Amino acid sequence: MERQKRLMLACPPTNINELLEGMGVPPFVPTVDHTLTQCVDCRADVWIGPNQRAAASRAPQTCLVLCMACALAEQHKRGGGVVGHLGGGNGRPRLPG
Ligand SMILES: [Zn+2]
Repeated sequence: MERQKRLMLACPPTNINELLEGMGVPPFVPTVDHTLTQCVDCRADVWIGPNQRAAASRAPQTCLVLCMACALAEQHKRGGGVVGHLGGGNGRPRLPG
């Protein structure tokens, strides 16, 4: 499938909270259901959520797992469009230690 037509799965990179520091948004806390994977473009480590992982494993040829930064760049290249949100975000937080 053409890259342009693939579903973008925008995942927060592991340094998301450093990137967002001072922007007034709540910190991102991965849940126990998130796992680490890599952005296909820049190979950054990203947290992939359970719904995104399910989409990616159901149809690997139609998905693009990207970090937020690469997803924005890809979106720009496509001339806009919406980065889909697959819901979730209410899982049990993965606490340090
Ligand atoms: Zn990336």
